[in-house]
Amino acid sequence: MVLSLTQDHLDDIRKHGEAAFPYECCGLLLGQIQGEQKQVLELWQVENSWEEGENPFADGESRNRRFLIEPQAFKAAHDYAQQQGLGVIGTYHSHPNHPPVPSEFDRQHAFPWGFSCMIVSVQEGLSGDLISWVLDEQDHPQVEPIQLRSPERVASH
Ligand SMILES: [Zn+2]
Repeated sequence: MVLSLTQDHLDDIRKHGEAAFPYECCGLLLGQIQGEQKQVLELWQVENSWEEGENPFADGESRNRRFLIEPQAFKAAHDYAQQQGLGVIGTYHSHPNHPPVPSEFDRQHAFPWGFSCMIVSVQEGLSGDLISWVLDEQDHPQVEPIQLRSPERVASH
């Protein structure tokens, strides 16, 4: 599978990561599967709901190192996607001052059904490498190729 998106999508993910620095940003990828392509058509920004001490996964890590997408936020994105004839096909988040490599936490909390997991590294507020991962059948993260395609419609700005 190839993850297909536009330059605008990449720019928006980078900007989101830079705006959230030094915290992690997170969001969902909405789109559709066409043959061997997972096509991202819209990004869905999600507020990082990670709160220390308030959730069952809290382990002393802060929003610098963790992100959490609330089930309600996921459902809202899912419902919206369905209205558009799309689905939620992946997630993205940033790694402030860390390389774009899935942490053990990311791996354990990855959506298990072949979702793309995009990670952008943000070094001192500037976005750097951006990689997409998927879990293989042994639950090991594998790099997923990213393909840029030209935009479907003229940007409105
Ligand atoms: Zn992560």
